[in-house]
Amino acid sequence: MSQLPFLPFALPEIGEDEIAEVVDTLRSGWLTTGPKAKRFEAAFGAFLGDASLHCIAVNSATAGLHLALEALGIGPGDEVIVPTHTFTATAEVVRYLGADVTLVDIDPATLNIDPRAVEAAINRRTKAIVPVHYGGLAADMPALLAIARRHGLKVVEDAAHALPTTSGGRLVGTLGSDATVFSFYANKTITTGEGGMLVTRDAALAKRAQVMRLHGMSRDAFDRFTATVPSWYYEIVAPGFKYNLTDIAAAIGLHQLKKAHAFALRRTQIAQRFSAAFAGLPLVVPPAAPAGELHAWHLYALRLGDGALPTRDQVIERLFAAGIGCSVHYIPLHRQPYWRDRYRLAAGLFPHSQRVYERQLSLPIYTRMDDGDVERVIEAVTRAIAAA
Ligand SMILES: *Cc1c(COP(=O)(O)O)cnc(C)c1O
Repeated sequence: MSQLPFLPFALPEIGEDEIAEVVDTLRSGWLTTGPKAKRFEAAFGAFLGDASLHCIAVNSATAGLHLALEALGIGPGDEVIVPTHTFTATAEVVRYLGADVTLVDIDPATLNIDPRAVEAAINRRTKAIVPVHYGGLAADMPALLAIARRHGLKVVEDAAHALPTTSGGRLVGTLGSDATVFSFYANKTITTGEGGMLVTRDAALAKRAQVMRLHGMSRDAFDRFTATVPSWYYEIVAPGFKYNLTDIAAAIGLHQLKKAHAFALRRTQIAQRFSAAFAGLPLVVPPAAPAGELHAWHLYALRLGDGALPTRDQVIERLFAAGIGCSVHYIPLHRQPYWRDRYRLAAGLFPHSQRVYERQLSLPIYTRMDDGDVERVIEAVTRAIAAA
């Protein structure tokens, strides 16, 4: 029916500078972790504006979350609190370590982890909280950090959506948790194809993550005896992982990072246009950031309001028929067979996440959409919800 080309849900924006930098890497003779990964780590610290941060480039955010929790000593017998309204990566890393996941509900206004639900879920085994900055809006970090302090818990932020996001005027990554992990997956706010960054102020955590990122290989002995031990020498101090970021990927990241604020500005414009256009319709628009704060707008997660409306699934079908890709973030973890069965979870335990899930869809929001694309999405949504 539609003559217009299909508008995908997400598309990366890769420019000639990324392409030239990758070509330079390919010609350089050094493809894996090397000078460009090191430059990317330094540039990331500079972007966050905090010289005391250790930035550790990894090949995914999943890897970074795993490394952070491993370095914090999470293991069998421990529990880690995770919001149910997230991607499985946030929780699966806890299981890699033999620890247990405690899923908790979200605040229906922000769609972020509810600090009261966190506090209610704490018991003697609880060791850490992994909040997610859902869609790019900061979770309530002051409340979560206060709870963690009171109960002696670690905090690892899943910042896969949150570059650049602020809380209290400070960028996520600098907020005072134990570690923060960003994702550079293909559809995230900046991309390296696959990749991630683990950020921490904790020197011991950084050291452990650096060793475990590459096979548990330590050159401490080499560093100590540089004068006498030749450079082939290393020691394996643990059964580590293979989580290093290649220079090919870092080459892309170096240029994506320079554009991160411009990208966010464009996504913010699109979000504002969507929310203004949907204001008069029976829809619940996602919350904007509080005044003065940055929202990364990785997702624009719209909800159907009350009243005689088509179902969420019908709306998605109609948008698809109109040539517009959308998605759902997320099928909550308590609905997923593994998590549901492993912890015998009933939907009634997570009323907010469950209700949001049933009425939620994510619209395309990315820098390669022009104003015409944005209006086309608005028109299609308006039409899709009109006829029940
Ligand atoms: C994308 C995503 C991840 C995983 O990121 P990868 O880099 O693909 O490992 C983790 N958590 C959330 C909330 C995500 O959206």
